[in-house]
Amino acid sequence: MPADEFSLIARYFSSLGAGPAVVLGVGDDCALLQLAPGECLATSVDTVLEGVHFPADSLPEDVAYRAVAAAASDLAAMGARPLGMTLALTLPAADELWLHSFSQGLAAAASELSLPLVGGDTTRGPLTITVQVLGALPPGRALTRGAARPGDGLYVSGTLGDAAAGLAVLQGRYRPELEVAEYLEGRFFRPTARLQLGASLLHDATAAIDLSDGLLADAGHIAAASGVQLRIDAQALPLSAALQAHPDRAQALAWALAGGDDYELCFCLPAGASPPAGCTRIGEVAAGAGVVCPGFEHLATGYRHF
Ligand code: ADP
Ligand code: MG
Repeated sequence: MPADEFSLIARYFSSLGAGPAVVLGVGDDCALLQLAPGECLATSVDTVLEGVHFPADSLPEDVAYRAVAAAASDLAAMGARPLGMTLALTLPAADELWLHSFSQGLAAAASELSLPLVGGDTTRGPLTITVQVLGALPPGRALTRGAARPGDGLYVSGTLGDAAAGLAVLQGRYRPELEVAEYLEGRFFRPTARLQLGASLLHDATAAIDLSDGLLADAGHIAAASGVQLRIDAQALPLSAALQAHPDRAQALAWALAGGDDYELCFCLPAGASPPAGCTRIGEVAAGAGVVCPGFEHLATGYRHF
């Protein structure tokens, strides 16, 4: 007898729900999360589809980890403190080997990102993973896209382009030596959601966004929301050792500027503010509109589903 969804939920999804804000987790009609007085609830939801957001032969634990990290990155970009998450999972079959592996990636992400799994929905159909994240913001504060001002510096965390290079490796378009290939694939499947950085920027940054669609596209959202121009110096972009060693620097920079899936933060700080550790100044905010990156005007920006 194949397992029904209730036994699957009990076996794979009901034990990841402990956290400081969790009053009631999996098993009732709603989960209950405790906010502090005056706090604001931050929430965001992301769906990932096999063959669109990750290759069809990806390991289930990687798929789970990446889905959670990508969703958590939106909390980071708002400066929100993680409270918990829910998971809407559509599966082609009740494949318990697959579910075991998937729940391991889920558990790793839940614990590393402080996102207890407090509820969800389980249905049958083409593999689809939807993660909703819930976070808390102190009264009256949030790191939005909308308040960058001319004169601010423009910064990013970490290194850019690794995930796009990793996807190129996974798709056989780029064949570096094994160690580099493994590093890049790891950056695609295990992005770092910058939750601590986001929270630390809450007081100083004028605007922030997480980099899901590529720097040029996402910086364009800050420019539009703030009514400013962002000027990016491509030569200042932080590249990993793996991308610095790429024989074609134009390709490495194209990944860093237009490749997606890095889930680093891009943010603006007032002139004179010093950036947090691990962050790099890549340009500045000016009066005007759009994103300017001399020498790279030709790059297409952003993934479009339709
Ligand atoms: P309801 O019919 O009340 O929506 P369900 O039968 O869908 O409840 O789910 C039973 C319980 O299991 C609920 O608490 C729900 O949040 C939880 N749940 C269902 N699927 C998942 C999942 N994939 N991950 C975590 N919790 C889940
Ligand atoms: Mg339900």
